[in-house]
Amino acid sequence: MHKNRSTCSWIYSLREEACTRLPVLTAGTTFAEITQRIISEMSVLCCHYSEIVGTGFSRPVYTVQVGKELFDLFFNSPDGYRAAYFRSPGDGLNANISFIRAISLPLEESPLSANSKLCSSRIHQCLVTPSAKVWLVEHGKEIDSKCPGCTGEWSSGTAGRPDQAEIHNGVWEAASGPNAEWGRKAPYLTKLRVMGAFLDDQYHECVPQDKRFRAYGIYRDGWS
Ligand SMILES: [Zn+2]
Repeated sequence: MHKNRSTCSWIYSLREEACTRLPVLTAGTTFAEITQRIISEMSVLCCHYSEIVGTGFSRPVYTVQVGKELFDLFFNSPDGYRAAYFRSPGDGLNANISFIRAISLPLEESPLSANSKLCSSRIHQCLVTPSAKVWLVEHGKEIDSKCPGCTGEWSSGTAGRPDQAEIHNGVWEAASGPNAEWGRKAPYLTKLRVMGAFLDDQYHECVPQDKRFRAYGIYRDGWS
């Protein structure tokens, strides 16, 4: 369906701290290694209950601190999360499932999980359902505006000039639209947000309509 692309030509023009970042980003760290390092080095900052009001569909949302180096490897490296989607939507979905599977146990075991008001089996089911996902932490999407863990690190206003690509992979720098303007950037942040799938009491899954083609969106634009 989608031809697999290669990440062999994945070139950076970073606007922040390029000398520190480039050797790390190009060291060939595999996605499995990045995942394992995140599991062993992260700290869980918060967990909240999130719902689609009036529908019975709800999920836990975690914010974790991973630090700049691991964030960079995860989000921006040629073997990272978005690069998997760049190769093909299917590769991205596989990377998402393997990452969420790996991180689900430490998240479930965090004492902060109690703040979600969801029982442990519901939390587990939300995390292992394939529409669970991970992304950076955006301003304006805090689950609890008073929670310091939730505080956003990224906003469109700080993303930099839209025409200045930081990742050149032959596709994202040439794509058009606001998602592509953000997708070609290489934000240098510290936190990841893990969102469970929306499930109801019978474990039916709800994928919000604008997220149905998330994998294809990241493949095309680097962003969804
Ligand atoms: Zn929070």
